[in-house]
Amino acid sequence: MLNLVLFGPPGAGKGTQSEKLISKYNLVHISTGDLFRAHVKGQTELGRRVSQILADGQLVPDSVTIAMLEEEVVKSPGANGFIFDGFPRTVPQAQALDNFLIDKGSKITVVIALDVDQAELNQRIAERHKISGRVDDAADKLQKRVDEYFSKTIHVLPYYDEQRKLTRINGKGEIEEIFKNLCAVIDKY
Ligand code: ADP
Repeated sequence: MLNLVLFGPPGAGKGTQSEKLISKYNLVHISTGDLFRAHVKGQTELGRRVSQILADGQLVPDSVTIAMLEEEVVKSPGANGFIFDGFPRTVPQAQALDNFLIDKGSKITVVIALDVDQAELNQRIAERHKISGRVDDAADKLQKRVDEYFSKTIHVLPYYDEQRKLTRINGKGEIEEIFKNLCAVIDKY
């Protein structure tokens, strides 16, 4: 089983690379952002609870996010492995994921962080906003998401580094080149 955490700030390219990785390695892609957006769109009870939080670019409370993630993982009992995209975003989420996987006799195989500088991120998300129309891609909300990343999510990196599971990759450049570098890391496992 291969369980990959794809890590990086908003706009780092996690979604794009995940799509390529799932077809190559036959993994199940779990994006908590996509899941939340589907709940909002479907106007589920969870969707109603989180819609304003998402629109504001804040993090959904850990308990809610962890419960949703675990529910999604158990839907694919026979999976080859998972790509966790946008999760964990806090240290308590990382700890919860570890404990959850241990209970299942599994673990995180590797964590790959896509490194992209701030100027490039701003440019990418401005472009994406034009196409996606995501309300949280608007400039002020984006700033909030970037702030959340640097105040809360960044602390997940030392958590995995201490477990010797972290590899950093340059997330700037050609999509294919980044994909090749990602595969080179994954193929070691
Ligand atoms: P990005 O494009 O910024 O990487 P995502 O699509 O991963 O964004 O997430 C969009 C929004 O969904 C976040 O701003 C946050 O409100 C919520 N969200 C997604 N994943 C998590 C998480 N692991 N913990 C808390 N909130 C989350």
